[in-house]
Amino acid sequence: MAELRACGERVTLGEREVRFLSEIPHGSPSLDVDLECELECGHKGPHHGIGDTSHSFGAGRLANGEAVAWWVRWDDSTGRRDVVPMGNCPVETARGQVLSEVCILFDRHPGRHTFEWETSE
Ligand SMILES: [Zn+2]
Ligand SMILES: [Zn+2]
Repeated sequence: MAELRACGERVTLGEREVRFLSEIPHGSPSLDVDLECELECGHKGPHHGIGDTSHSFGAGRLANGEAVAWWVRWDDSTGRRDVVPMGNCPVETARGQVLSEVCILFDRHPGRHTFEWETSE
């Protein structure tokens, strides 16, 4: 499998962000305080790292029932950083099929879908 070309810019979460993410209903039990930007290398706009995800059932989902990923968004040029819930990118290569590849990013992310990165080599 070819190396995915993610941005990889790193950020370390503060105490307040860790506490916030660890209180999300149905969040994963362990939390990484060091995150990497998951967007495509060379993307525009702020960096985005996955803080945590909630399941598509129970509390913590969006009102429309979709699973939510909590993304840590940061911008080196402004120093601004926040944690935002975003729906998953709905795009996949072959909807409904076992071999379908899904994009791991959030809805309306910049750059290409993650499953498209490898084909560019
Ligand atoms: Zn980035
Ligand atoms: Zn996508």
